[in-house]
Amino acid sequence: MYEWIIIGGGIHGCTVATYLVKKKEVPIHKICVIDPYPEPLFKWKRLTGLIDMPYLRSPFVHHLDTHPFSLKSFKKGGGENFYGPYKRPALPLFNQHSNAVLEGIKISKAWFQGKVEHVEKGDNGWIVRTSSLDHFYGSNIVIATGMNNKLAYPSWGSDLVVAHPKQVGHLFAESLPRIEPPIVVIGGGISAAHLVVKLSKQFPGLVYQIARHPYRVHDFDSDPGWLGPKYMSGFEKISRYEDRREVIDHARHKGSMPSELANKLRNLKRSNTFTFIQDEIQSWDVSDNEIILHLTKIESIVKAKTILFATGFSREVMKVDWLQRLIQEEKLACAKCGFPVVKEDLSWCNHLFVTGPLAELEIGPPSRNISGARKAAERIVNHTV
Ligand SMILES: Cc1cc2nc3c(=O)[nH]c(=O)nc-3n(C[C@H](O)[C@H](O)[C@H](O)COP(=O)(O)OP(=O)(O)OC[C@H]3O[C@@H](n4cnc5c(N)ncnc54)[C@H](O)[C@@H]3O)c2cc1C
Repeated sequence: MYEWIIIGGGIHGCTVATYLVKKKEVPIHKICVIDPYPEPLFKWKRLTGLIDMPYLRSPFVHHLDTHPFSLKSFKKGGGENFYGPYKRPALPLFNQHSNAVLEGIKISKAWFQGKVEHVEKGDNGWIVRTSSLDHFYGSNIVIATGMNNKLAYPSWGSDLVVAHPKQVGHLFAESLPRIEPPIVVIGGGISAAHLVVKLSKQFPGLVYQIARHPYRVHDFDSDPGWLGPKYMSGFEKISRYEDRREVIDHARHKGSMPSELANKLRNLKRSNTFTFIQDEIQSWDVSDNEIILHLTKIESIVKAKTILFATGFSREVMKVDWLQRLIQEEKLACAKCGFPVVKEDLSWCNHLFVTGPLAELEIGPPSRNISGARKAAERIVNHTV
């Protein structure tokens, strides 16, 4: 019987594990982290590696460890380790620090590779079952499954990806199509931006970015005021969850990127290293192994051998069979948007906690980010039940 079972071993699940060991002094052998991948943060490292992200968007105080200055003191800050006025850490540094923190708590002793497919309440706690039919028993559960692998596509995109999987794919999917120029990147946010920079270096002049909107420039994906009482005290007073959802949606700078990245793109655009098109796709067809995209506003077409969607994750985070069964069986409260209504300590019911997107009606706009992981972990380890 584990004291804590954490479902999902990404940044959120691993931050909770770190806080449980370091702040609550839970022995690591009493924690079980279940995740489909062989090691912690696998998905984070894969996605950020794919786009060659040089620096995180978040500042140096956002990381997995309990002490805010842990990353700063991990290595002496230098030009190459931290970027800009917010001291955003370089990705390799952030990953090395995360590895060191997780090795420090001996997370490998808690790691179980598997995909959770069923959770139910037993006589003495929770029973968790994976797709390979392994069973786990635990007193407390934390659901840290992130965006639940739900990808977002524009309305015309899902048919295209099904019809031509060898040439068309989503950047965040498990596998990518073969990359052959000319390449079209669909999307105007930070992941699309990093991807365009990377591909333009490899295939100068043969990359197109198609986005619905011009570059939206914001340092962070929500105002830093959301990290403290400036905005959060008002948010916490909102009793209607529909209103909280509206506030969250409004506060997020969706599809935005920091200024240095927008400047990099502008320079590459100026030197014709890639082409930016602000438009939408009306339809597509295929001719001679090339996909032809028909644009809406400009009466024109773009031909591509490869199309990559960098359109992020879908909002349908809660459309997961085992989660829906759990909600019904335990009569768990959900808001109209389908997301959990949880207590301040992030418990959905006794001994069942959430973090990440599932905690956002309580943690607010930064809930999905690393700062949200820290806040959630703090609240979970401080719970009093
Ligand atoms: C490219 C990119 C860059 C980002 N950069 C930043 C940044 O600089 N700063 C910042 O604050 N945020 C950033 N974010 C946002 C956010 O911090 C990250 O997405 C972060 O990885 C989210 O962590 P997570 O643990 O919630 O999700 P994930 O990393 O997705 O981890 C969730 C884990 O749960 C697993 N899981 C899902 N379902 C199950 C199941 N049924 N059973 C078992 N396991 C399951 C998943 O497979 C996954 O391994 C970035 C996001 C992306 C995509």
